[in-house]
Amino acid sequence: MYDGFKMKLPIYMDHHSTTPLDPRVLEAMMPYLTEKFGNASSKSHVFGWQAEAAVTKARGQVASIIGASPQEIIFTSGATESDNLALFGIARAYREKGDHLITGATEHHAVLDAARSLEKEGFRVTYLPADRYGRVSPDQVQKALTDRTILVSLMAANNEIGTLHPLEEIGRVVREKGVLFHTDAAQALGRIPLDVNSLNLDLLSLSGHKIYGPKGIGALYLRKKPQRIRLDPIFQGGGHEEGLRSGTLNVPGIVGLGMACTLAGEVMAAENERLRGLRDKLFRHLSEGLKGVHLNGHPTERLSNNLNLSFEGIQSDGLMMEMKDVALSSGSACTSARPEPSYVLKAIGVGEDLARGSLRFGLGRSTTEEEIDYVAKRCLSAVNKLREGTGVRGELNY
Ligand SMILES: *Cc1c(COP(=O)(O)O)cnc(C)c1O
Repeated sequence: MYDGFKMKLPIYMDHHSTTPLDPRVLEAMMPYLTEKFGNASSKSHVFGWQAEAAVTKARGQVASIIGASPQEIIFTSGATESDNLALFGIARAYREKGDHLITGATEHHAVLDAARSLEKEGFRVTYLPADRYGRVSPDQVQKALTDRTILVSLMAANNEIGTLHPLEEIGRVVREKGVLFHTDAAQALGRIPLDVNSLNLDLLSLSGHKIYGPKGIGALYLRKKPQRIRLDPIFQGGGHEEGLRSGTLNVPGIVGLGMACTLAGEVMAAENERLRGLRDKLFRHLSEGLKGVHLNGHPTERLSNNLNLSFEGIQSDGLMMEMKDVALSSGSACTSARPEPSYVLKAIGVGEDLARGSLRFGLGRSTTEEEIDYVAKRCLSAVNKLREGTGVRGELNY
């Protein structure tokens, strides 16, 4: 067992699921959870004005990190809502123009399930298959575009395997055809540079809690320049956010999201380099120390903080039980008694057995070299222990 030094356990290595609040974010939020509690829509007193001023500042901070204008930001409850608002909102607003949408097989459920629901409303949806690294090519998108297509929705970075789509090239193809382009950037924001203009994006979903901000807050970017994109709201009510998202604004959450965006922009370059180094070290340790380790996703076109591996002869739930002091994820939906292997791994052609033996390592701002060394050693010994007697440890028989 490892006993080199004292380290705080358990170790959190699941930053794709959520991230802890940055202390500077909490500090920025505090006044709006306490004495500055006003409703940003109250125009008749200072409590409302304070809240409104805070929202205005945060709107600018969020816009700034994606190269948008503040008026193009709609605050929502998170990326799930933003994805739903984008798909339903565009489909219903542009129904007279067309009835066809394009998305990808490896998208987050927030996009996939909204698309399936739109199919029930009579829309047609093309689900582009991904290559073995999880990528969709501009050529595939080009071929799928028709005169009836109104929206293309493809994620910037995948939440399981970290694969980055070639958004810039895809954006060019989509724009040329005069079709609207949406991306779910919940994982990519703060990890890769995102500029809505150079990427030709018309809509972009983002989430607070994936970037060291609070849970329950997010935003949808909606292009207004050079022309205003229309959107049918999902919520009816007080007409907040120019009628596109009714409901009293979550002022502390919005302030936190704004601060989280600013911090993400400041630390992105250095953090990427640091995490890529740690991630590569972890991969090296595991792939050199064990046989039958497979990398899922793209070797280079991937998030710096993502490592998704499959271990031959291993079930991921058993492996996670063996290393309980490390918070990891398998990416499989454990809602049923028998966990279903990940649909993302399935979509990129990973076989059933390897898909069931997958583990996602999600590094983050707090991850240290000591943690990486510890996790590598724990994982090595856990895999070896589980493989003992299965014939996998020595010569691989498959
Ligand atoms: C986390 C995540 C979501 C959902 O975001 P919430 O803010 O939790 O609703 C959507 N898409 C991707 C890619 C995500 O990683």
